[in-house]
Amino acid sequence: MGLYSYTRLATYKQCPYRFRLKYIDKIPETKTIEQFMGSCVHKVLERLYKNVISAKLIPLEKILEYYHKRWAREWDDNIKFVKRDLTKDDYRTLGEKCIEDYYKSYYPFNQSRTIHVEKRVSFALDNEGRHKIRGFIDRLAIAPDGTYEIHDYKTSGNLPTQKDKDEDKQLALYQIGVRDMWRDVHSIKYIWHYLVFDKEISSSRTERDLEKLRFDKITLINEIESATEFPPRESSLCNWCSYQSICPLWKHLFVIESLPEKEVLQEKGIQLVDRLERLQSERREIETQIEETKEALFEYSDREGVDRIFGSAKMAKIKREIKLSFPDSNDERRTQLEKVIRESGKWNEVSLLDVRKLAKKVEEGSWSDGVLKSIEKFGEKEEKKSVTLVKKKEREE
Ligand code: SF4
Repeated sequence: MGLYSYTRLATYKQCPYRFRLKYIDKIPETKTIEQFMGSCVHKVLERLYKNVISAKLIPLEKILEYYHKRWAREWDDNIKFVKRDLTKDDYRTLGEKCIEDYYKSYYPFNQSRTIHVEKRVSFALDNEGRHKIRGFIDRLAIAPDGTYEIHDYKTSGNLPTQKDKDEDKQLALYQIGVRDMWRDVHSIKYIWHYLVFDKEISSSRTERDLEKLRFDKITLINEIESATEFPPRESSLCNWCSYQSICPLWKHLFVIESLPEKEVLQEKGIQLVDRLERLQSERREIETQIEETKEALFEYSDREGVDRIFGSAKMAKIKREIKLSFPDSNDERRTQLEKVIRESGKWNEVSLLDVRKLAKKVEEGSWSDGVLKSIEKFGEKEEKKSVTLVKKKEREE
């Protein structure tokens, strides 16, 4: 089995197709400006704390000078901008503000004793050493009461809630690795620094949380290792994805955007979608007219006292009948009804297996492994195609 990082696992969960392109096909990703700014800020804080470990404090002006030099040296014109209203300078200034605020809030950086920066953690989730994890901790420190602290810097423009961080998996995963490093690791706390907001959020996990996490990640790794299909999964992160131009969900939009304006409406795909939209709209109109005509025929039949109405070539037969109906699955009386039928021993005469729902349950894997295994052998896989028209989505915010 391969070596997994938190990012690698998260990428698979977020979008299996992106996972395939990145980790199997090994197609390099383009950095976004957010990632670039974040990595510059991380490098600055790494340098700052490396010096703190050696009992040396770098003045704020020097650390900002290092930030700007690094920014200029590492800059690459291919860096991707998603938010069109923000410029390169806006991001550089934001990064500078993150560092300055952090520096002023934590100077002289002795709230806890830093023991490592960019610390590599590598460990196995199982006793056989088959499910291996690797990662980097931004900063590892020991608080005055002996608690180990895993610090993580974030330059995101979204401030998560306490609940979000209490459910966060990344640092909890690293805790499993940190525990094995020293004998005196009795308690561990996670501290996220949301630098844009000059705010820290902390959390910790119980032994039970860690066991569940270990189990979940082993299950996920097994799922990845046995995966044969990697379908694209749309999310709000698509706009930040480097592979948008080759992704089946967005590729066509890039093709259209690359065409000269006068050729856009001649493009075959656009023409087909527009035609389908037109035809569906006509069908809706015709269906409405059919219903209205039927209503008019019922009225005519009532008014004139006729059950057959003759046209030029065809005739309309009007039929009236009283139909019995029973509560459907959304009706609260349904359970009671089912109980009565079961108790009367007639269930098999009226009930049908809903094979669509069954297929959905199996695909979602929402039943126990034993049940799924015994059912799966009856299923057959076949490709089904469908086309649905939905409102067109914008590629960028
Ligand atoms: S654009 Fe979205 S759906 Fe396509 S690969 Fe990227 S994350 Fe997946």
